[in-house]
Amino acid sequence: MSIYNDEVFQMACDQFQVIADYLQIDQNDRDRLMLPKRSMAVTLPVHMDDGSTQTFQGYRVQHHLTLGPTKGGTRFAPNLSMGETAALAMWMSWKCALANLPYGGAKGGVACDPTKLSRTELESVSRRYMQEMIPFVGPHTDIMGPDMGTNEQVMAWFMDTYSVYQGYCVNEIVTGKPVSIGGTEGRREATGRGVVYLIERATDMLKLDPKKCTAIVQGFGNVGSVAALSLALNTGMKIVGISDATVALYNPNGIDVAKAEQHVIKKGHLRAFDEADRVDPNEMLTMPCDVLVPSAVDRVINKGNAAKLKCRILAEGANGPTTPEADLILNERWDELFVIPDILCNAGGVIVSYFEWVQGLQAFMWTETEVTDKLFRILEHSFAQVIKRAKAHKISHRTAAMAIGVERVMKAKHARGLFP
Ligand code: GLU
Repeated sequence: MSIYNDEVFQMACDQFQVIADYLQIDQNDRDRLMLPKRSMAVTLPVHMDDGSTQTFQGYRVQHHLTLGPTKGGTRFAPNLSMGETAALAMWMSWKCALANLPYGGAKGGVACDPTKLSRTELESVSRRYMQEMIPFVGPHTDIMGPDMGTNEQVMAWFMDTYSVYQGYCVNEIVTGKPVSIGGTEGRREATGRGVVYLIERATDMLKLDPKKCTAIVQGFGNVGSVAALSLALNTGMKIVGISDATVALYNPNGIDVAKAEQHVIKKGHLRAFDEADRVDPNEMLTMPCDVLVPSAVDRVINKGNAAKLKCRILAEGANGPTTPEADLILNERWDELFVIPDILCNAGGVIVSYFEWVQGLQAFMWTETEVTDKLFRILEHSFAQVIKRAKAHKISHRTAAMAIGVERVMKAKHARGLFP
């Protein structure tokens, strides 16, 4: 599959094959389940502030359309490729199916560094991307949401561009919008809150007192910052390590996360925050803590450091933070390391996106308390199913979570049959 040629796509396929072997999926079904239904690559010419025209590459992958429209985030990152987008779309499929959402997975994005674009340039890239995608997306075909490098403002530009072309307001085309234009209360915090809810379920099961626990959170974007803040404020956990793309910080006495957040709001990054020691970002992952929350990029837990992790709970806020080779090592450490796999751990975002889509379609509103309650109920159900399956079949939490997702998609494909 040369158009998807990419290490992250290979990793998503390798993970799928592990599940396919465990579920004894017929060879005839494997490619049908694994390979994306359709993928689009677009070239985006954009006027830059200096008068030049720059072209950017954009992608959108719709992994399967068996259960409903596809759903997934939009990533703005310098090295984004078709293969990585396809891997992320595949993970969205298993994530949505595990949470029982009526979606296939999708992912898209633009290969660009949003931190190097002016606001006008970012708006132009965002609008041009949505404009090029209009033939392929729609509230009943494919609904975009936020991901790394995008935010509420980008979603607002997407929604506006799509709506202008349709001639009326279509707020259900995009989720993660500002509340002022049909966004859902609590969507921005949803992923981080979900991560913390599941960490609390894990500390419960392990009989750990959160107030006596320490945590290290990698990544200080929409997921990491909310997770760190909520772990500190709501559970009383001591946050000893935080990081972003510019710096990794460690303080065994605890970091004031609210202060760090204020710093990031002012400066845009953590770099000059001086209330902790600077440490090597990779070494931070293997420093002693009870809870490790990788909430940045993929493949940070690999065969080089999996044996060295000193945490008791690994809560995967990012997509694909752990490689299959690392999984083999973590599986052997099952009695000392409790893994909350990504498709369960970070599902809060897409679950609340689903609420936002439903609200948009029905022109309906829920309060933040109602949204968060419903979110926790879905996460609780998914968590319970994963733990039950893992115990009953003596398999890892990741295998259990993915197997539940893959099985649901397979069942739906069999029920619908093959056309013609
Ligand atoms: N980007 C988020 C994820 O990876 C959610 C995307 C959405 O809300 O559609 O799960």
